[in-house]
Amino acid sequence: MALYDPKSLKAEEFISHEEILDTLAYAEAHKNDRELIDKILEKARPKKNGAGYTCAGLSHREASVLLSADDPEIGRRIEEIAEEIKLAFYGTRIVIFAPLYLSNYCVNGCTYCPYHAKNKCIPRKKLTQEEVAREVVALQDMGHKRLAIEAGEDPKNNPIEYILECINTIYSVKHKNGAIRRVNVNIAATTVENYRKLKEAGIGTYILFQETYHKESYLELHPTGPKHDYDYHTEAMDRAMEGGIDDVGLGVLFGLERYKYEFAGLLMHAEHLEAVHGVGPHTISVPRLKRASDIDPTQFDNGIDDDTFAKITACIRLAVPYTGIIISTRESEKVRTRLLNLGVSQVSGASRTSVGGYSSEEREHDTEQFDVSDTRTLDEVVCWLMEQGHIPSFCTACYREGRTGDRFMSLCKTGQIANCCHPNALMTLAEYLTDYASEKTKSVGRALIERELNNIPNEKAQKIARENVRAIYEEDRRDFRF
Ligand code: SAM
Repeated sequence: MALYDPKSLKAEEFISHEEILDTLAYAEAHKNDRELIDKILEKARPKKNGAGYTCAGLSHREASVLLSADDPEIGRRIEEIAEEIKLAFYGTRIVIFAPLYLSNYCVNGCTYCPYHAKNKCIPRKKLTQEEVAREVVALQDMGHKRLAIEAGEDPKNNPIEYILECINTIYSVKHKNGAIRRVNVNIAATTVENYRKLKEAGIGTYILFQETYHKESYLELHPTGPKHDYDYHTEAMDRAMEGGIDDVGLGVLFGLERYKYEFAGLLMHAEHLEAVHGVGPHTISVPRLKRASDIDPTQFDNGIDDDTFAKITACIRLAVPYTGIIISTRESEKVRTRLLNLGVSQVSGASRTSVGGYSSEEREHDTEQFDVSDTRTLDEVVCWLMEQGHIPSFCTACYREGRTGDRFMSLCKTGQIANCCHPNALMTLAEYLTDYASEKTKSVGRALIERELNNIPNEKAQKIARENVRAIYEEDRRDFRF
């Protein structure tokens, strides 16, 4: 039996199976313990601290008690606090990105993923550099500024050199006023040396979903290929950090294992990163298993309903207040609308999960990774966000200003978010409206920007932001940032 140790670099010690089982038993035993639950909720609340806010976050045990509590009244309080944290730290801003699928060649045998090596129904495709450039032009023409690149694991077809070449191509395409300013990367676990190369190529966040923290299930769900190695996969973020990447994104694929187990494992992973590297995950994604070529999600026993999904998201918000939460187009407009108020800070928009999907007119289903539920255009997503009371943001400033790792936390604590992230969101939205929006979106957006400029507390910052927005509208100037 491996002893639980968040500071250990060994997967079985920082994601200790015994500690997860003990946590689940503790949560079950205390799920009606009102005194304890009140204390945990009070701890989770954001506290005013001079000009800014601080938030203690919750341990995996505390958050697991909340997740287990089945009194609907507790559920409502969790949702209220999730929204309070969201507003204190992220305001009403929602960052927008799109995935870009480079290649679906894959040597792994993941039983839930259509890319699995034995799937003969899926045509294999890998973008050439010309095709990457065409995809980027199509994405820029929609208004995207931030991408997450995706690829299957195949050392022959998708070696690290190929990924690096694609990143280089993506950053080099400048079409009309378009530019991709941040490339996040979601590729298989790799070596420190390769992470260093990704860092040097200028990536934003390195994203890797754990899929499941349950080792026995993991080994069954990944029966063949390099991804079968649970320890190598689970320890990937430590190697990424050793390679100099200090923004890493975690996630589990909900539906594969019991959600309470995954939830505890996910938070233990976050605690481990904090304990070893002094900085927690930059983002957490909450994908749910979807139908895809050769994949029927009903064959997996652990699917979760929308209410449970919403509760998990809200509890993550309480546990790791400084970590962004990402929700993709795997989810419908209805689910996304609900989750936006529970702490989500990033959404994808107008996604195509097929290789080469953006530059083809029709939605190509044959090379798709999974069915997309939200199929709206980016313009529709932007307008919907604004009508729901959010500010769509195309901001990439933090990463470009070197504000990575734990710097976001210090922005929150010193209250500089309102003078920095808020105007950056407004200026990038102004760019979007001017270059890409429909007349309706433009008029909703311009009115919103006008109102929101008044909410920049620092007078000087407000004046500069107002002048920059004017220059975007009237002088065709771009790329301002605080
Ligand atoms: N190949 C990379 C790896 O090994 O981590 C990651 C790229 S893969 C394109 C991105 C993610 O899609 C996977 O980590 C998995 O969680 C998710 N995924 C795979 N099959 C899925 C399905 N049927 N429904 C929803 N998401 C799925």
